[in-house]
Amino acid sequence: MAFVTGCEAGPTNSPAIINNSTNSTMKYPLQRTEAEWRKTLTPEQYHVLREAGTERPFTGKYWNAQEPGVYRCAACGEILFKSDAKFDSGCGWPSFSEIAAQGKVIAREDNSLGMHRTEVLCANCGSHLGHVFDDGPAPTGLRYCINSAAIDLQSDSQTNKMEK
Ligand SMILES: [Zn+2]
Repeated sequence: MAFVTGCEAGPTNSPAIINNSTNSTMKYPLQRTEAEWRKTLTPEQYHVLREAGTERPFTGKYWNAQEPGVYRCAACGEILFKSDAKFDSGCGWPSFSEIAAQGKVIAREDNSLGMHRTEVLCANCGSHLGHVFDDGPAPTGLRYCINSAAIDLQSDSQTNKMEK
Protein backbone atom coordinates (compact mmCIF):
# COMPACT_ATOMS: atom_id res chain seq x y z
CA MET A 1 0.00 0.00 0.00
CA ALA A 2 1.69 3.19 -1.09
CA PHE A 3 -0.51 6.04 -0.08
CA VAL A 4 1.01 9.47 -0.30
CA THR A 5 -0.83 11.36 2.35
CA GLY A 6 1.27 14.46 2.89
CA CYS A 7 0.47 14.12 6.55
CA GLU A 8 2.64 16.65 8.26
CA ALA A 9 0.84 18.10 11.25
CA GLY A 10 -1.59 20.69 9.94
CA PRO A 11 -3.78 23.17 11.78
CA THR A 12 -5.82 21.36 14.41
CA ASN A 13 -9.12 22.41 12.97
CA SER A 14 -8.48 21.74 9.31
CA PRO A 15 -11.33 19.69 7.87
CA ALA A 16 -11.02 16.04 7.06
CA ILE A 17 -10.86 15.59 3.31
CA ILE A 18 -13.23 13.04 1.88
CA ASN A 19 -13.51 11.95 -1.70
CA ASN A 20 -16.61 11.86 -3.85
CA SER A 21 -17.24 8.18 -3.43
CA THR A 22 -17.17 8.55 0.34
CA ASN A 23 -19.59 11.41 0.11
CA SER A 24 -22.14 9.63 -2.04
CA THR A 25 -22.68 7.06 0.68
CA MET A 26 -22.21 9.46 3.53
CA LYS A 27 -25.12 10.03 5.90
CA TYR A 28 -25.39 13.44 7.48
CA PRO A 29 -27.02 13.85 10.90
CA LEU A 30 -29.72 16.03 9.35
CA GLN A 31 -31.46 14.36 6.42
CA ARG A 32 -34.01 16.18 4.29
CA THR A 33 -35.34 15.52 0.83
CA GLU A 34 -34.61 18.04 -1.89
CA ALA A 35 -38.35 18.86 -1.94
CA GLU A 36 -38.18 19.75 1.75
CA TRP A 37 -35.10 21.91 1.20
CA ARG A 38 -36.89 23.74 -1.60
CA LYS A 39 -39.69 24.61 0.80
CA THR A 40 -37.43 25.94 3.57
CA LEU A 41 -34.80 27.81 1.52
CA THR A 42 -35.04 30.81 -0.77
CA PRO A 43 -34.28 30.07 -4.44
CA GLU A 44 -30.86 31.72 -4.05
CA GLN A 45 -30.04 29.73 -0.92
CA TYR A 46 -31.23 26.54 -2.57
CA HIS A 47 -29.02 27.13 -5.59
CA VAL A 48 -25.91 27.69 -3.45
CA LEU A 49 -26.52 25.16 -0.67
CA ARG A 50 -28.08 22.28 -2.57
CA GLU A 51 -26.77 22.78 -6.11
CA ALA A 52 -23.28 23.96 -5.16
CA GLY A 53 -23.88 27.33 -6.78
CA THR A 54 -21.65 30.35 -6.28
CA GLU A 55 -22.95 33.86 -5.78
CA ARG A 56 -21.24 36.62 -7.72
CA PRO A 57 -18.39 38.28 -5.79
CA PHE A 58 -19.15 41.51 -3.93
CA THR A 59 -22.90 40.85 -4.18
CA GLY A 60 -23.58 38.80 -1.04
CA LYS A 61 -24.74 40.32 2.21
CA TYR A 62 -21.70 39.35 4.28
CA TRP A 63 -18.56 39.81 2.16
CA ASN A 64 -17.94 43.14 3.87
CA ALA A 65 -19.70 42.47 7.20
CA GLN A 66 -17.71 43.31 10.31
CA GLU A 67 -20.30 42.87 13.04
CA PRO A 68 -19.24 40.54 15.84
CA GLY A 69 -21.24 37.36 16.08
CA VAL A 70 -21.52 33.81 14.85
CA TYR A 71 -22.30 32.56 11.39
CA ARG A 72 -24.74 29.67 11.19
CA CYS A 73 -25.48 27.30 8.33
CA ALA A 74 -28.39 28.90 6.44
CA ALA A 75 -29.85 25.44 5.88
CA CYS A 76 -29.71 23.82 9.32
CA GLY A 77 -28.62 26.51 11.81
CA GLU A 78 -25.37 24.92 13.01
CA ILE A 79 -22.72 27.43 14.11
CA LEU A 80 -19.98 27.12 11.48
CA PHE A 81 -17.82 30.23 11.72
CA LYS A 82 -17.15 33.06 14.15
CA SER A 83 -16.59 36.69 13.29
CA ASP A 84 -13.17 36.61 15.05
CA ALA A 85 -11.90 34.41 12.24
CA LYS A 86 -13.36 36.59 9.47
CA PHE A 87 -10.85 38.60 7.52
CA ASP A 88 -10.85 40.81 4.45
CA SER A 89 -9.40 38.69 1.70
CA GLY A 90 -10.42 41.07 -1.09
CA CYS A 91 -12.05 38.21 -2.99
CA GLY A 92 -15.65 39.43 -2.64
CA TRP A 93 -16.91 36.57 -0.49
CA PRO A 94 -16.93 36.23 3.29
CA SER A 95 -13.57 34.70 4.21
CA PHE A 96 -12.64 32.92 7.41
CA SER A 97 -9.29 31.60 8.58
CA GLU A 98 -10.80 28.82 10.67
CA ILE A 99 -14.03 27.04 11.48
CA ALA A 100 -15.94 27.62 14.73
CA ALA A 101 -15.10 24.18 16.07
CA GLN A 102 -13.50 21.05 14.80
CA GLY A 103 -15.80 18.84 12.75
CA LYS A 104 -18.29 21.58 11.87
CA VAL A 105 -17.45 21.44 8.19
CA ILE A 106 -16.12 18.74 5.94
CA ALA A 107 -14.13 19.14 2.78
CA ARG A 108 -14.13 17.18 -0.41
CA GLU A 109 -12.18 17.35 -3.60
CA ASP A 110 -13.85 19.30 -6.35
CA ASN A 111 -12.49 18.97 -9.86
CA SER A 112 -15.34 20.78 -11.58
CA LEU A 113 -14.81 23.67 -14.02
CA GLY A 114 -11.38 22.29 -14.92
CA MET A 115 -9.95 23.37 -11.56
CA HIS A 116 -8.71 21.44 -8.60
CA ARG A 117 -10.34 22.92 -5.53
CA THR A 118 -11.52 21.77 -2.13
CA GLU A 119 -15.23 22.14 -1.56
CA VAL A 120 -16.54 22.83 1.95
CA LEU A 121 -19.80 21.33 3.19
CA CYS A 122 -21.78 21.64 6.41
CA ALA A 123 -21.02 18.50 8.42
CA ASN A 124 -24.51 18.46 9.88
CA CYS A 125 -26.64 18.64 6.74
CA GLY A 126 -24.24 18.19 3.83
CA SER A 127 -25.07 21.54 2.25
CA HIS A 128 -22.50 23.28 0.06
CA LEU A 129 -20.89 26.35 1.65
CA GLY A 130 -17.98 27.31 -0.57
CA HIS A 131 -14.33 26.33 -0.94
CA VAL A 132 -11.20 26.33 1.21
CA PHE A 133 -7.82 27.51 -0.08
CA ASP A 134 -4.39 27.37 1.51
CA ASP A 135 -3.48 31.04 1.01
CA GLY A 136 -5.05 32.36 4.21
CA PRO A 137 -3.39 34.23 7.07
CA ALA A 138 -1.30 32.67 9.83
CA PRO A 139 -1.56 30.63 11.96
CA THR A 140 -3.93 28.37 10.02
CA GLY A 141 -2.89 29.48 6.54
CA LEU A 142 -6.42 28.67 5.45
CA ARG A 143 -8.98 30.77 3.66
CA TYR A 144 -12.53 29.51 3.83
CA CYS A 145 -14.24 31.31 0.98
CA ILE A 146 -17.93 31.03 1.81
CA ASN A 147 -21.07 32.18 0.01
CA SER A 148 -23.11 34.75 1.95
CA ALA A 149 -26.24 32.88 0.88
CA ALA A 150 -25.01 29.76 2.69
CA ILE A 151 -24.67 31.40 6.11
CA ASP A 152 -26.71 33.51 8.52
CA LEU A 153 -25.06 35.98 10.85
CA GLN A 154 -26.35 36.01 14.38
CA SER A 155 -24.77 39.17 15.71
CA ASP A 156 -23.78 39.50 19.35
CA SER A 157 -26.29 42.34 19.77
CA GLN A 158 -29.09 39.99 18.61
CA THR A 159 -27.83 37.30 20.97
CA ASN A 160 -27.84 39.74 23.89
CA LYS A 161 -31.42 40.78 23.13
CA MET A 162 -32.54 37.19 23.08
CA GLU A 163 -30.96 36.54 26.45
CA LYS A 164 -32.83 39.40 28.11
ZN1 LIG B 1 -26.04 22.75 7.67
